[in-house]
Amino acid sequence: MKTIKGLEPTIIETFSNQLQGKTIMPSDADFDETRKVYNGMIDKHPGMFVMCVDVADVIASVNFGRENNLLIAVRGGGHNGGGLGLCNDGLVIDLSGLKFIRVDVTNKTVRVGGGNLLREVDHATHPFGLAVPAGIVSTTGVGGLTLGGGVGHLSRKYGLTIDNLLEADMVLADGTFVTVNAERNSDLFWAIRGGGGNFGIVTSFKFQAHPVKNVFGGPTLWPIEKTEEIMEWYHEFINNAPDELNGFITTMIIPGPPFPEHLHNKQFCGIIWCYAGDMNRAKEAFKPILAMNPLFEHVGEMPYPSLQSLFDGLFPPGLQWYWRADFFNELGPEIRAQHLKFGSKIPTPLSQMHLYPISGAASRIGKEETAWAYRDAKYAGVIVGIDPDPANATKITKWCKDYWSALHPYSSGGAYSNFMMDEGQDRIKASYKHNYNRLAKIKTQYDPNNLFSVNQNIKPNH
Ligand SMILES: Cc1cc2nc3c(=O)[nH]c(=O)nc-3n(C[C@H](O)[C@H](O)[C@H](O)COP(=O)(O)OP(=O)(O)OC[C@H]3O[C@@H](n4cnc5c(N)ncnc54)[C@H](O)[C@@H]3O)c2cc1C
Repeated sequence: MKTIKGLEPTIIETFSNQLQGKTIMPSDADFDETRKVYNGMIDKHPGMFVMCVDVADVIASVNFGRENNLLIAVRGGGHNGGGLGLCNDGLVIDLSGLKFIRVDVTNKTVRVGGGNLLREVDHATHPFGLAVPAGIVSTTGVGGLTLGGGVGHLSRKYGLTIDNLLEADMVLADGTFVTVNAERNSDLFWAIRGGGGNFGIVTSFKFQAHPVKNVFGGPTLWPIEKTEEIMEWYHEFINNAPDELNGFITTMIIPGPPFPEHLHNKQFCGIIWCYAGDMNRAKEAFKPILAMNPLFEHVGEMPYPSLQSLFDGLFPPGLQWYWRADFFNELGPEIRAQHLKFGSKIPTPLSQMHLYPISGAASRIGKEETAWAYRDAKYAGVIVGIDPDPANATKITKWCKDYWSALHPYSSGGAYSNFMMDEGQDRIKASYKHNYNRLAKIKTQYDPNNLFSVNQNIKPNH
């Protein structure tokens, strides 16, 4: 593999001249700013950025990378925990300029550029009373989130983000441009619904949107000492709740405003709710929740984009993040005891654990219908050590790893790929399970030389 440094300047110049967007080199003043990603723990030094603004730029960049035998990374929203939107020495194909959104109100579909962020999609669809199911923090990239699966507030009602993907335009490793959907290139369409950026660069997504304007939601909190009781109740409740009701459970600290002062810096077991049904029935749906006597609740009707961005302010870019994840089928007594133990010693105010329900509509898609293998798991769990201060990196990493190690024996074996860092081939295989071999076959056909390797990598068979 060559490095950018090893290339003749004329080769780089010829390439740059083909672009509508620009290149950014290590010698450029904005290089250091450009190489920042959301996770402040990531410190990679690429050889060059290509800031693509259209499909032609993406095609030129893929061809340039392949012809010059360069390591290629593709960056969408730059949120990936392991920094998989960047690489060292190689070429970063940046899609942050590849943004466009068109809402087709009649058909309730939305076309979205490969570099758009969740909040931009919400902004465009909300005036029409529509929403595309996505995640819970609005600064996340549509690209990475969708290709990995997409778990969020609407998963129980409308499924994962991939369950609402109708079509994608892609640039493949050989530079060809294809459209994939249920009829055309259906093998690729299957693979990109969960298989990540392994198969090509998606330049546009077409989603099914749904009639969601306002939702009824927000947090309910209980003292951390009640974790076992609340988790036991939650497991029974959420798995029997109507699809309209979503709620992910967390162990967390209330770090400060906008929460009232008496809660600050205390540990809690919390649930963040989203009811996406008839607003006249919302209060009724919340009766059994409020009957559990939360110490604090702030639930009410709000525009869907407000819930989607409720936590944005707490998590600005540049914090240190260390991630660990697993799927779980149950929340038995041993699991609940570990949540109480590690939830009681959260090391920094922003560090937390989340369990997202994989039930309702998300669980009614077959395990082999998309590349996303864990449709029968009840929860996608994630533990994140978070802090602004790099000096606390060791502390948050240790808590996260210890928490994960204590729970892993009770897990379903694999993790949601978008909640993983760089954790090696065994973890990737465990996370795609029975779908791994089919993914490897498709990878071999479309990317035999593993041009797209900076991702949760499916290796081609040779
Ligand atoms: C604060 C925060 C909140 C999150 N909340 C959720 C959540 O609620 N639900 C959820 O499911 N996940 C969530 N995630 C995880 C998120 O889905 C992943 O981090 C995802 O990788 C982010 O995508 P990105 O485009 O921002 O990242 P990037 O770092 O840009 O890319 C991640 C990977 O996707 C590939 N990629 C990105 N765009 C494209 C494209 N257009 N074509 C081909 N490959 C592409 C990249 O090459 C890379 O391998 C969250 C992450 C953070 C940091």
